[in-house]
Amino acid sequence: MKELYDKLIELSLKRALFYPSSEIYGSIAGFYDYGSVGVKVKKKLEDYWRWFFLKSLGENFHEIQPTNLMPESVFKASGHLEYFEDPIVECSKCGFVERADQLLEGFLHKTFEGLTSKQLDELIKKHGIRCPECGGEFKEVSSKSLMFGFSTRKGKIYLRPETAQGAFVNFRREFKANRERIPIGLAIIGKAFRNEISPRQALFRTNEFTQAELQVFFDPEDTRHENFSLIKKEKVKVVLASEREKGEQELSAEQLVNKGYFEKYVYYMFMMKKFYNSLGFTKLHFYEKNEEERAFYNKFHFDCEVFFKCFDSFKEVAGLHYRTDYDLKNHEKHSNQSMQVFANGKKFVPHVIELSFGIDRTFFALLDNNFKEDGKRKWLSLPKHVAPFAAGIYPLVSKDGLEEKAKQVYELVSKQADVFYDDKGSIGKRYARADEIGVMYGITIDYDTMQDNAVTIRERDSTKQERVKISELVERLSNIK
Ligand SMILES: [Zn+2]
Repeated sequence: MKELYDKLIELSLKRALFYPSSEIYGSIAGFYDYGSVGVKVKKKLEDYWRWFFLKSLGENFHEIQPTNLMPESVFKASGHLEYFEDPIVECSKCGFVERADQLLEGFLHKTFEGLTSKQLDELIKKHGIRCPECGGEFKEVSSKSLMFGFSTRKGKIYLRPETAQGAFVNFRREFKANRERIPIGLAIIGKAFRNEISPRQALFRTNEFTQAELQVFFDPEDTRHENFSLIKKEKVKVVLASEREKGEQELSAEQLVNKGYFEKYVYYMFMMKKFYNSLGFTKLHFYEKNEEERAFYNKFHFDCEVFFKCFDSFKEVAGLHYRTDYDLKNHEKHSNQSMQVFANGKKFVPHVIELSFGIDRTFFALLDNNFKEDGKRKWLSLPKHVAPFAAGIYPLVSKDGLEEKAKQVYELVSKQADVFYDDKGSIGKRYARADEIGVMYGITIDYDTMQDNAVTIRERDSTKQERVKISELVERLSNIK
């Protein structure tokens, strides 16, 4: 649905959701800025994530905020310096550069993730693939680091390629500060940076992006989850690596455990599913990566994929990884600091389950999932917890005291709810503007308001209108939070 994709981009530019960075200078592919409306949606999405994973689960989970720049030693220990690279091909004639696996994917319509440079090279030669720009021959496939590094007087530093490392390097301190309880979860919402060769699909593959990650540190001999019984009969759609030929299958939490995934892991899979369901995504599944596709330190790796109408396919928005003790053990080795804890009557290095969310991808998925059209009317049916505003407040006309009255209503309501005031253009145009960014309600102050102290509330999706007393407005709007 290329058409829908173009509509989403057009809407984003027009209504300040997101747009190319440094646009007046021509902008660079893969860099986007969030605009005034986009920021509101993104922040609400992040706040909702915080509430869902750090508050509602009621566990020993905490948010930390490590720096974006970290010293080289961190990435030596994590393995990123050695392994975090992309296979690339370069045209020997015009210099066109592309990721080798994506080049092949474009020609052969299959995925080639996880193949070695040599294998990719052979495939390119076998199929006689040439430069799409000039028809020239490609040089041999080579590797390029995905990290942005800088030389400073303090030595080499890097922009983090994932937020996760901040949780591992701070684990000891947080474990102590939080009364040495295990499991403990450390969450980070922040930027990560990757030097992508071929950024594409708007917010989908960018050089700078926001992750929300939660690392759950636990005792590897205690893999049960206390609330597992609550979800054991619930079902989820999965594509298992070992049974990929079966495609998507619906399994219960219990069945997944019987297949060898432990309770804690499966429990968090269901929490991820619930999170996306509560944002209105019903068409989603968990796609398991096989041994070649997943990072070598992940023992289990499922991508949470939602269906994008504009791409007509499922795409990854989040991942659930069992990283074992790989990171802590390596930091222990490289830093000479013990990562052992004393809990459950013994000493051990905790294992880690990582819940990793792409905020920008989820944001784009929200636009894709909620863009609606009916004749000339366009609107975003965003769920209430991520809608940019609860309501717009409009005087029907800007005369006869209606404007003053509307401003009074705004003053009263804005203390409790996220609302804006708009008196520009006809009332129809104001509704249309608000609909396009997903504002839940329109509140109109008209001539009757001056007599009965009531306003007209119009609901976004149904466009139904009703009269509500000004004195009841605050309560009505705070209900939608
Ligand atoms: Zn070329």
